[in-house]
Amino acid sequence: MFDGSAAGSEPSQPAPMLPRHCTVLIVGAGPAGSATARLLARAGIDVLLIDQHPLGRDKVCGDGLIPDAHAALARLGLLEQVMARAQRASHVACIGPRGGRVDVPGHLAVLPRRELDALLCLAAQEAGARFVAPARFEAPLIDDAGKVVGATIRLDERTIEVAADWVILATGAQPKALMSAGLCERQSPSCVALRGYVSAPGLAGRIKALELVWSRAVRPGYGWIFPAPDGSFNIGVGVTDSHATSTGAKKDLNLRSIFEAFVRDYPNAALLMREGELIGGDLKGAPLRCNLEGSRWTRPGLMVTGEAAGSTYSFTGEGIGKAMETGMLAADAILCGREKGWDETRTREAYEAGLAALKPRFALYETANRINAFPVLADLLIWRARHSPRLLNRMAGVINETSNPGQLVSLKGLARLITEWN
Ligand SMILES: Cc1cc2nc3c(=O)[nH]c(=O)nc-3n(C[C@H](O)[C@H](O)[C@H](O)COP(=O)(O)OP(=O)(O)OC[C@H]3O[C@@H](n4cnc5c(N)ncnc54)[C@H](O)[C@@H]3O)c2cc1C
Repeated sequence: MFDGSAAGSEPSQPAPMLPRHCTVLIVGAGPAGSATARLLARAGIDVLLIDQHPLGRDKVCGDGLIPDAHAALARLGLLEQVMARAQRASHVACIGPRGGRVDVPGHLAVLPRRELDALLCLAAQEAGARFVAPARFEAPLIDDAGKVVGATIRLDERTIEVAADWVILATGAQPKALMSAGLCERQSPSCVALRGYVSAPGLAGRIKALELVWSRAVRPGYGWIFPAPDGSFNIGVGVTDSHATSTGAKKDLNLRSIFEAFVRDYPNAALLMREGELIGGDLKGAPLRCNLEGSRWTRPGLMVTGEAAGSTYSFTGEGIGKAMETGMLAADAILCGREKGWDETRTREAYEAGLAALKPRFALYETANRINAFPVLADLLIWRARHSPRLLNRMAGVINETSNPGQLVSLKGLARLITEWN
């Protein structure tokens, strides 16, 4: 039996053992998979968590933890541990194309994903989940009735069959696992983004908020600078609707030149790149899957969770919190089903109902995406929020998910911007 600690791929290490049976097989040890694994294992379920990469893998991300991530971490009992390592911030600075800026208050933090994801995966193991990596999901095992009853897994050049009552795909934005499970409805991502880490301890006291920058250079999308621990910064650009041509084909986007234009355009980005040192030597890009779209959410014996189910918000590109939240919805459905004696179908319906309940909120973020397409709206919002405490409160509510982001840019919302002066 694998002891959960040997996650490395060093040739001198003994080959990891893969159990042949488990109750729940979770594929992908990102925030979604590890959160699901921790909740289920904590309730005494026999969980096998696998990932194609060893523990401590990196994930291209902005690393920003907004309040939904804080809430999910609190439910997992990990908020204090994360916050002890993370760089805290008390504001999101919204910066418009004309250089206007408004600082919106919120509980925020930044922790590089290499560290956050390792912490989450170790917490799943601490709760009792077995972790095996590098082990790659190849395909589901399907019985005569069409139900998923396990998976074939690639481990050390071997292909091994693992039987499971449930398989949960938490495989992120890459569609390959979804495709082999027959659940992928759209291979192309919703957005693409690029980021790098810059070490600049001299600027730590100067750039303190999570800066979101709308500019024509990054349209449709935005640039960011997020202060990370130890005097480093996560800097990047994200382009929304990256594949929104009529055929769904990839638009002709060059993220590096968009990044360069962002750096030319935004003074703090120029300062950071001039005075700091790019860590790891390069910028890295990755896809995002948003709006709870692009895949089916379940099939008999299997649930899809996290970004594989499209759990990232399109307007902000924030997805760590919602990945954990949707993972915990899957765990809740399984636990509730066991307690109440539900059959497989009823359990999946409960999970799908949980996702469907989140859907309207995703639609509001999709509406707010207009700001990325028309950065002049950011100018207007920022200018008005500087003079309207009520609007500033509403913007803080968007970060806290207590107010409606779509309304800010609806016709009614825009009319209120003009007429409301307090
Ligand atoms: C540039 C960029 C910036 C972003 N910035 C932010 C931000 O600041 N804040 C925020 O909240 N979100 C941000 N996001 C979104 C965030 O990264 C995702 O929403 C989040 O990672 C989703 O978590 P997940 O667990 O669903 O998937 P992932 O974190 O992608 O984890 C999936 C895991 O599955 C494993 N896997 C995949 N296929 C297989 C297989 N076949 N077999 C075994 N294992 C497999 C992978 O190795 C990986 O470990 C950003 C995304 C990008 C690209």
